[in-house]
Amino acid sequence: MPISFDLTGKTAIVTGANTGLGQAISVALAQAGADVALVGRSSMAETEAAVSAAGGRSLSIQADLSSLEPVDRIISETVAWTGRADILVNNAGIIRRADAIDFTEADWDAVMDVNLKTVFFLSQAFARRLITEGKSGKIVNIASLLSFQGGIRIPSYTASKSGLAGLTRLLACEWAAKGINVNAIAPGYFSTNNTEALRDDPDRNAAILSRIPAGHWGQPEELGGAAVFLASPASDYVHGVVLPVDGGWLAR
Ligand code: NAD
Repeated sequence: MPISFDLTGKTAIVTGANTGLGQAISVALAQAGADVALVGRSSMAETEAAVSAAGGRSLSIQADLSSLEPVDRIISETVAWTGRADILVNNAGIIRRADAIDFTEADWDAVMDVNLKTVFFLSQAFARRLITEGKSGKIVNIASLLSFQGGIRIPSYTASKSGLAGLTRLLACEWAAKGINVNAIAPGYFSTNNTEALRDDPDRNAAILSRIPAGHWGQPEELGGAAVFLASPASDYVHGVVLPVDGGWLAR
C-alpha cells in the first residue's frame, strides 16, 4: 500500500475549533479530505467559512466543555451528520496565570476540567462507539511544551498538560490493539489568544523569541501537517507519542 495522508470519507471532531490552533487544524483536516465537526462554545462562523473555502464540509456543535454534559451529544450529533466519527482532536484548552503561592482553587479546577477531565471522558465516549462497532480511529490530543517542562505562573496548566501526556500514553496502551491510535502534539509558542499575554510583555516576548531556533512564533497553519499525519493512515503504527511542533524549542 502506498503511504496515505488522505482523509477522504473520514469524519473528524475538533474541539475548540472556532479560533487559533483548533481552527487551523480543522482547515488542515478538511484540506486532506475529512468532514469536520466543529465543537465549541462560541460562533464557528469564521472556521465554517475557512473549511468551506478549503473545499470541505463542516457541522458546528455548540458545547461548553467545562462540564461532561455535552460529551455524549458531541458523538451522537456527529454520527447523525455523516454516520461516522473516525478522528477526535482534543484541542480546546484554557490557561490561568498567577504565582503558585497565590493560585486559587477556582483557577485549578477550571483548567483541569477543560484540559484534562473532559478530554478523558470525550475520548472514552469516542472510543466506546468505535470498539463496540469494531472500527478503527484516531485520537490526537493537543498537549504543550508544559507536558515536558515546568513553566512559571501556570500551575494548573502545567499539571493538566503533563497529565495529558500521561493519559495519551495510557490510552495508547489500552486501545492500540483495538485499532485506535492515541497520540498528542505539543505545540511550541504559537501566535494565538492563549499566548497573547506573553507577546504583549516585551521582556517575555524577547526571551521566548531568542530561544526558538526557527526564530519566529509558530503560525497556527504550521501545526496542520502534524495533525493530518496523526489523523491519517500514515501514522497507523504510531502510538502514545507526544510530538513537539515547536520550531526547535525543546532541542535547545
Ligand atoms: P485559544 O485560546 O485561541 O483557543 C482555545 C480554544 O478552546 C478556543 O476555541 C476556545 O473557545 C476553546 N475552549 C476553551 N474553553 C472551552 C470550553 N469550556 N468549552 C468549549 N470550548 C472551550 O488558544 P489556542 O492557542 O488555539 O489553544 C488551543 C490548544 O492548544 C489549547 O489546548 C492550548 O492549551 C494548546 N496550546 C497552545 C499553545 C500556543 O502557543 N498557542 C501552545 C501549547 C499548547
